[in-house]
Amino acid sequence: MAQTLLEMAKELVTELIRVHHLSPNDAQSLLSSTHAALQSLHHAEASSTAATSSQTHTEGVSVSADWKRSISKHSVTCLECGSSFRQLSARHLRVHDLDPRSYRAKYGIPNTQPLSSRQATARRRELAQQIRPWEQAASKRNNARAKRAANTR
Ligand SMILES: [Zn+2]
Repeated sequence: MAQTLLEMAKELVTELIRVHHLSPNDAQSLLSSTHAALQSLHHAEASSTAATSSQTHTEGVSVSADWKRSISKHSVTCLECGSSFRQLSARHLRVHDLDPRSYRAKYGIPNTQPLSSRQATARRRELAQQIRPWEQAASKRNNARAKRAANTR
């Protein structure tokens, strides 16, 4: 602020004295009440600025939550055109001159987030778990081999 509140109040009151021919005593009380009024206005302004900035902050959060909303249980919504899919394919993203990598970058979607409906993701996870016994057997064999190798040392 270029002017202090006191300077603004003084100017206002000086103007009032000029126009209304206030007595010095009245001017004194008017000065302090004007200053108080300006101060409360300034506080209101400051707190509304704070409210605005906190709202901006909330908006920032909601932007990052947008992609979360785009992925529901049964579908994933393309944030470019609003179409719903079970899985957002690279082929569809090419329509928007994007690929899964640039699409994620554009909307702040983590690389760990699959671009498919939560159900499809869960199904894939299930399938992966069904496959896992084989992997476990394989890794057990590897561990046993490693142990034998350690024992012969
Ligand atoms: Zn699209």
